[in-house]
Order: sequence, then structure tokens, then C-alpha cells
Amino acid sequence: MARKKRSGFGDLVTDRASFDRAEARCPQCRRPVGPADNPSFVSSFGGAAPQLATMRCGRCNAMLTIRFEDAAPA
Ligand SMILES: [Zn+2]
Repeated sequence: MARKKRSGFGDLVTDRASFDRAEARCPQCRRPVGPADNPSFVSSFGGAAPQLATMRCGRCNAMLTIRFEDAAPA
């Protein structure tokens, strides 16, 4: 029985503005990932803006967890 390669798991830290500009990159294949990749935002406790999103890289299919760090308010 062939052992299936475990799907990659990526953990990515960025800020929301960079993510919206698709400046975040998949840690596995370095492909830029952004809002076009259908991220699922995970609501944070207390109803604040989501600080976590999960999505799959469109190239290597890695499951990515994106954590948004608070950017300094402009
Ligand atoms: Zn990738």
C-alpha cells in the first residue's frame, strides 16, 4: 500500500493590506496568494475583524493558514 504524501501545511503571517495586494506568498512554492484564491476568513472571538484565514494554494494545493498581524493604522 503506497503511503500517501501528507499534504503540505503552511503557516503564513502577513498584514491585511499586504494580503489584499497579493503580496503574501505560499511558503511551499512561493506563489503569490491573495483574495483571488478564495480565502475563508475565520471570525475572531468577540466579533472583531477576522485575523485568521485558511485557503489552498492554487499551484501546489498546500493548505495555508494566514494570520493577519495588526498593521499600524495609517
Ligand atoms: Zn503553493
